[in-house]
Amino acid sequence: MTLKELRTHFTGEIIPDADNGKTVTLAGWAHEIRDLGGITFLVLRDRTGRAQVTLVKKKIDAELLEIVKRMSRESIITVTGTVKAEPKAPNGFELLPETITVVNEAGSPLPMDTTGKVDAELDTRLDNRFMDLRREEQTAVFVIRDTVQKSIRDFLEQNKFVETTTSKIVAAATEGGTDLFPINYFDREAFLNQSPQLFKQMLMSAGLDRVYEIGPIFRAEEHDTRKHLNEATSIDIEMSFADHEDVMELLENMIVYVYEQVVEKCHKNLAVLGIELQIPKLPFNKYTYEQVLDIINNEIPEIEDKMVFGDDIGTQAEHLFGEYVFNKTGESHYFIIDWPTETKPFYAMPYEDRPEISKSFDMMHRMMELSSGAQRIHQHDMLVESIEAKGLNPDGFEFYLKTFRFGMPPHAGFGVGAERLVMTMLNLDNIREAVLFPRDRKRLSP
Ligand code: ATP
Ligand code: MG
Repeated sequence: MTLKELRTHFTGEIIPDADNGKTVTLAGWAHEIRDLGGITFLVLRDRTGRAQVTLVKKKIDAELLEIVKRMSRESIITVTGTVKAEPKAPNGFELLPETITVVNEAGSPLPMDTTGKVDAELDTRLDNRFMDLRREEQTAVFVIRDTVQKSIRDFLEQNKFVETTTSKIVAAATEGGTDLFPINYFDREAFLNQSPQLFKQMLMSAGLDRVYEIGPIFRAEEHDTRKHLNEATSIDIEMSFADHEDVMELLENMIVYVYEQVVEKCHKNLAVLGIELQIPKLPFNKYTYEQVLDIINNEIPEIEDKMVFGDDIGTQAEHLFGEYVFNKTGESHYFIIDWPTETKPFYAMPYEDRPEISKSFDMMHRMMELSSGAQRIHQHDMLVESIEAKGLNPDGFEFYLKTFRFGMPPHAGFGVGAERLVMTMLNLDNIREAVLFPRDRKRLSP
């Protein structure tokens, strides 16, 4: 048997009525073996679902039954047999086997349960991620994440964006600060990039006009939270001849498109997770930073510490304000706009008439921040002043500043965390659930 002949179908491709009586070969894992005496059920699992292989003792070849009885759970198997429509079986059919082959036997005991009958701690699951991912809920998360990322690419292609890949090894910090991972770069110190921000902007001067990148960002933040990773995936865009309002419109349309695509393409996976997705309504509500402050100080008594202009909106306030918006509007997604210039990075454009606030925004989900963006400063001298005002040295940014001296169009952009997008969409408890192999303060393997 050649490898090509190992499989004719995925289990999920079999249509019980149409394929009734057909001979097929399935390949996958021995998910479960249930010996009920007169009848034995072998459940074969692949990425698309499960098939029940039924062996009736009186009718079946004794050798075949012996193979199944000796089989260890999670072994790799192939089964060739006849499809029989059976409404009581999972997916509406059973397979009456002619041949069963154990391709590669699994050891025992298994490091963790894959049937979902035994609850495992997140740490145990992540230590054994390859086994954890065999559970249909986990498969569903990553099939949906695939659709999320593909639809973003799709949407941005439709809007004439060029996909780019920029270096993750850099000489200088994007925004200054201490959240950097230093690395040895031959005889020099270098860093893992926190954000493709500076590259994206340089590509505006290069004339690419609209660029995006879906790639890793590295942040040496020490906190251990449900929404922070030390390596995350950023969906970053930058757009020339655009202001903050233009990119907010792009962003809300992108989010709605992604939700629509997931609803259309992933209904089975959503059902596995028990989720009925609400597509957010356009346009998203906008609250200025000062309105948020006002509401927090006057309408949300649970927040005891009064906020003043220039304060960041902390986790508790972010959460309670999210609830406030949801109760008022029924919507989970909204924008907080016009942030104090001092709270935003040096590249955010201040308003001409009120330079203490900037043309910046955060796109929020009820539970957390999903994205930050802004119109950027495109004038060289103003940018140098802004870098200095943040206590940074413009000399370290010469490679970047140079691109502002020889033809830089006005531009704007944003970054969205891919994991937070999936996490909030699927109502996951912990951001680590949305990453195959998460990196956090304690976890460097697998
Ligand atoms: P927060 O304040 O929630 O830590 P941030 O404002 O530092 O986030 P930005 O620099 O604005 O993050 O990055 C843009 C987006 O990238 C964030 O809105 C978030 O979705 C995502 N992101 C940033 N840092 C992380 C991280 N450590 N883990 C997961 N996602 C992140
Ligand atoms: Mg932010």
